[in-house]
Amino acid sequence: MKKSYAALSIALLSTLACGAQNPAGNRKVVIAHRGASGYLPEHTLEAKALAFQMGADYLEQDLVMTKDDQLVVVHGYYLDNTSNVADLYPDRKRKDGRYYSIDFTLAELRKLQMTSEFKTKGGKRVPNYPARFPLFKSTFRIHTFQEEIEFIQGLNFSTGKNIGIYPEIKSPAFFRHEGKDISKATLKVLKEYGYDSKDDPVYLQCFDAEELQRIRKELLPELGMDLKLIQLISERKWKTKKVYGKNGSYNRYDNKWMFTREGLEKMATYADGISPSLATLIDPKSKKGQLKISPMVKDAHELGLVVHPYTFRVERVPAYADDNLEEMFGIFFNQVGIDGAFTDFPDRLVNFLKQ
Ligand code: CA
Repeated sequence: MKKSYAALSIALLSTLACGAQNPAGNRKVVIAHRGASGYLPEHTLEAKALAFQMGADYLEQDLVMTKDDQLVVVHGYYLDNTSNVADLYPDRKRKDGRYYSIDFTLAELRKLQMTSEFKTKGGKRVPNYPARFPLFKSTFRIHTFQEEIEFIQGLNFSTGKNIGIYPEIKSPAFFRHEGKDISKATLKVLKEYGYDSKDDPVYLQCFDAEELQRIRKELLPELGMDLKLIQLISERKWKTKKVYGKNGSYNRYDNKWMFTREGLEKMATYADGISPSLATLIDPKSKKGQLKISPMVKDAHELGLVVHPYTFRVERVPAYADDNLEEMFGIFFNQVGIDGAFTDFPDRLVNFLKQ
């Protein structure tokens, strides 16, 4: 018992110290979710350039691996809902009808046309957000994690800014099941590009708590690095997937523990912050003026954890905020007390925080 308290207070102290050294200071931070994805196809360099110019503090990268062990920036290991992979490689789908990043080499992926997120209904492609950049217009390509870092560092150089990166390791259990250590690969690239201490403008995020603990306790010390880690927290009903078993069958990952004070205390032993879904902080069924706010932010702050929830979108404003994104920002920043946020519309949050 004594030992765990000691570990907790050390984590707390280091977290507080890091908060003071954070380049963003106590200022609220704007994280461009997949770039300025409200305006351009997600995770394209074009979407990152736009978010950079809009004044975001951090640009997000979702990371998956290819057959030839390259890290590419794309929303998940399925490629069929953001590209024309099904047109180009019709024979390469798996039994479940999906196309996996891991089944393609980087050279093959470079031939894909990337676009905004869509669903295929009755053979027709329907955009998830119909008012956004039209499907398959112009030409957008996939790129590697290294290429995106060089892009952002290049922009930092030419503009004199110091915009940070916010990579997410996607589905590490899946990739490890496929024989690939995506976490180690990610950390090696970060180190190579100079992101190796808590003072550097980077947060590393993951949904998988066991993997984040492995990163904190094994991989970072092994590589002589120290980074700010963010525990992503999904809504309980999402039932985050993990892989077990030889045939790739899924078991559900139980994240009930994350919604308790004890759970947050555990997270504070290895993470520097949390990134919960917005619905975790305010019950989406709340009535205007009668918000049901969870104690998660208050508890997290007491434990020295920053809170950067996801995702603010004009298309997904709950009724309690009157369909108004700015009102929603106001509720979360002023009443709930969050420290930053993921948004598809970084310009709107930058403007809100200026006022
Ligand atoms: Ca993400």
